[in-house]
Order: sequence, then structure tokens, then C-alpha cells
Amino acid sequence: MKILVTAKRVPDPETTIKVNADGTGIEEAGIKWVVNPFDEIAIEQALQIKESQGESEVVIVSVGNSDSQEQLRTGLAMGADRAILVSADNPDPTVVSRILEKIVEKESPDLVIMGKQAIDDDSNEVGQMLAQRLGWPQATFISELELADGGGSATCVREIDGGLETLSFPLPAVITADLRLNEPRYASLPGIMKARKKPMEEVDAASLGIELGRSVTIVSVEPPPERAAGRVVESVDELITALQGEAKVL
Ligand SMILES: Cc1cc2nc3c(=O)[nH]c(=O)nc-3n(C[C@H](O)[C@H](O)[C@H](O)COP(=O)(O)OP(=O)(O)OC[C@H]3O[C@@H](n4cnc5c(N)ncnc54)[C@H](O)[C@@H]3O)c2cc1C
Repeated sequence: MKILVTAKRVPDPETTIKVNADGTGIEEAGIKWVVNPFDEIAIEQALQIKESQGESEVVIVSVGNSDSQEQLRTGLAMGADRAILVSADNPDPTVVSRILEKIVEKESPDLVIMGKQAIDDDSNEVGQMLAQRLGWPQATFISELELADGGGSATCVREIDGGLETLSFPLPAVITADLRLNEPRYASLPGIMKARKKPMEEVDAASLGIELGRSVTIVSVEPPPERAAGRVVESVDELITALQGEAKVL
């Protein structure tokens, strides 16, 4: 079966983020960039399916500028077979879903696996919009996946507020990965060497025949308020007095 996986270039979650000078985004200079952590989980899941099904192909797609080649190479080093980089400048989630729809139409995968959200803008909407555009079944936030009927259908478990929900649906479908789906593998040295020779196709988003402008404008970005310094109390009585009088939580 053919599995399409998405990988977004995002700042390393360990990086200290600063808001840029005009307050419309983050300061990008000097940041370490990685594959969106939920997308690494999606790649791992695709590789596990390939290993269990055999005769499968894992194609990894990123939408962004040429710097995203680095994240695609990471996915190839993990074990994906080939990569597609769609060049688009600062696309919003709606535009990304339109671009992915075109790539899916061209590639005809049996399954699309995506992260449940990108950790930079936390939009949590690209997977849902893509499934809707394609008219395919979707299962979001999945923590377990099992294929049946020789890859013709799937059963997913997803975490919901009250517990767990199990869904079954025919393929092709779009699924989005939650944190507990698996533990992504590290790229091995042989994997990194092999990745250099794997194909990476570059597609100009403008050639896909879709409107590329942003439908949403980011008006402002603010950092969370600075946390006040903590204080060491001498006794339980002092703690209770502080919780009642200062923090007013008791
Ligand atoms: C594991 C887990 C952890 C979570 N942790 C947090 C947390 O820490 N903080 C937090 O804020 N939330 C958290 N959530 C999300 C939150 O608990 C609810 O999922 C959230 O309130 C969404 O509600 P919903 O399921 O109705 O959403 P949706 O069904 O997506 O609905 C979203 C909105 O769409 C509209 N809508 C949906 N259906 C209809 C309808 N039939 N008619 C009219 N309008 C409709 C409503 O306006 C609704 O509020 C968590 C969820 C999960 C599963």
C-alpha cells in the first residue's frame, strides 16, 4: 500500500521562543528547527505499516521553503522512500490543505497520516480540512491503529474526554496522530547515508492551480506573562497563611 505522511518544519520544542520586533510572529534567527513531533509519530506509524505489510511505499510531504528539505531528509533517514517538497511562502492551514489535496490527487495514496497539530501554530485543522476536501473518512487524535482486510479498512482508538473511542472505516482515509500512538525511531547512520540518495521532488505550489494567499492574517503574537519568582516558606503555618492571604487559593 502507499502511505502519504506530512512533515512540517517547526522550532525545536526545547528552543526559547522570542516574539519578533513587530509582534506578528517569532524571531526566527538562531532557532533550531526540527520535524514537528507529532509528524515524527506519523512517519513512525507509516514505517511500521510498511514493515508489517511489505510491498508498501512511504512518501513524505512538506509544504514550505527550501529549508524544509532538512526535515524531509530526516524522514527519509528514518526510512521513508521518497519525499515531495511543495514550495510555498508562509501558507496558512487552509492553503496547506488545498496543496495537500492536489498532492493526494496526484499520488493516490491508500492512507494519509498526519500529526494531530503542528506545535508552532497549534491550529489543529489541516488533517480535518484535507479529509473534508477529499471526501474521505477521517480519524483524529489516534492512539492506536490496526489495519484489516489486507489494508482495505482500519480500526483506530482515539482519546476523548470521557475515555477511549474506537472507530472503524474503509481506506483511503486521513488519520492524525496523538502522542501515545508510538515512540518514533531515531535515524540510524546507514539511514542518514541512504537518505542522501533517495528522491526528493520539488513542486512549485503556484503550478498547482490553487489560490495561495492567506485566508487568515496573524494580527499579533504575545508571549505569556513572566512568572514571578518563587519563595521558600519556613513552616506549614506560614504556607497556609500565604495560600489564604496572598494567593487566595484556600
Ligand atoms: C485527552 C483530551 C484532553 C483535553 N485537554 C484539554 C485541556 O487541557 N484544555 C482544554 O481547554 N480542552 C481540552 N480538551 C478539549 C475539551 O475537553 C473538549 O474536547 C472541547 O471542549 C471540545 O468540545 P467538543 O468535543 O464538543 O468539540 P467539537 O465537537 O469539536 O465542537 C467544537 C464546537 O463546535 C460547535 N459544535 C459542535 N457540534 C455542534 C452541533 N451539533 N451543533 C452546534 N454546534 C456544534 C460548538 O460550538 C462546539 O463548541 C481535551 C480533550 C481531550 C480529548
